[in-house]
Amino acid sequence: MNVYFYYLDGLLIDTGQSHMQRHALEAIVDLPVHHILLTHHHEDHSGNAAVFQKQTGATVWGNARTAAKLQKGFRILPYQHLVWGRATPVIMKPLTAPIESDQHVLTPVATPGHSKDHLVFFEKNYGWLFSGDLYIGERIKFFRSDEDIDAQIHSLQQVMQLDFDTLFCAHNPCPQNGKHHLSRKLDFLVTLKQKVLALHRQGYPAREIIHRLDPRTDRRVKWITMGNASFAHMVRSALKSAQ
Ligand SMILES: [Zn+2]
Repeated sequence: MNVYFYYLDGLLIDTGQSHMQRHALEAIVDLPVHHILLTHHHEDHSGNAAVFQKQTGATVWGNARTAAKLQKGFRILPYQHLVWGRATPVIMKPLTAPIESDQHVLTPVATPGHSKDHLVFFEKNYGWLFSGDLYIGERIKFFRSDEDIDAQIHSLQQVMQLDFDTLFCAHNPCPQNGKHHLSRKLDFLVTLKQKVLALHRQGYPAREIIHRLDPRTDRRVKWITMGNASFAHMVRSALKSAQ
C-alpha cells in the first residue's frame, strides 16, 4: 500500500512511515516547513514527525488525542513494525482552529471512526480535502479492531456537507471527483451495515453473518495482522448498533 504525505506552502500534512525515513527526509530537505499537521496517530502517518520536527524546527499539530498518544509513544504489533516501523514520540500541540500559510487556510474537521483521533483538513478556497485514512478506497475489506462503522458513517456524512473535489487521501489520492468517490464509500458502508443487520434480524449469529458476507481475502490479512485487521471487525462493529 502506498503512503502519501503532502507539502503545501510551508505546511506538511502527515509524515509517512519511519521505514521510509531517509527518502522522506530527502523529499523535504530543501523545503521550508513551519507546521506539521497529523491526521491521526497511526504509525504510517506519524512515523517521521519527530525527525521532521528536529530537522525543520516546525510545530507539530493534531487532535488532542493524537498529541497525548504521540507524547508518550504507543505500542504497535509485529506486522506494523515489519510494514511501517514505529513512530518516535514527539511533542505536539492540539489543533483547535484553522491553520494558515501565506496562500492557504486549512480547517481541521473531526472525523472519528477509522481512529478516535482522526482529523481531515479542508482547504475551502481550492476545494481540497486532505483526508488521511477517511477514504482509502470505496469498498474497503478490513477494519482494525478499534474501528467504528457508525462513527465512520457519521464522519463521512459530515464531510459530504463540505464543498470539495480533490481528495488528498494518504493511500489513494483522487485528484478529481473526490467527493463522488467518498460518497461511494459512504454508500458501501451504509449498505454493508444494512446487510449485517438484516441477517442479524433473521437470527443469524455473528460467525454466520461474517461467513455469508466475507470477501474471501479475510483469512490471509487476519493471519498476517494477528487478527488486528479483518472483515469480521466490520461485521462486529455493525452489530454493535443492534444492541
Ligand atoms: Zn490509519
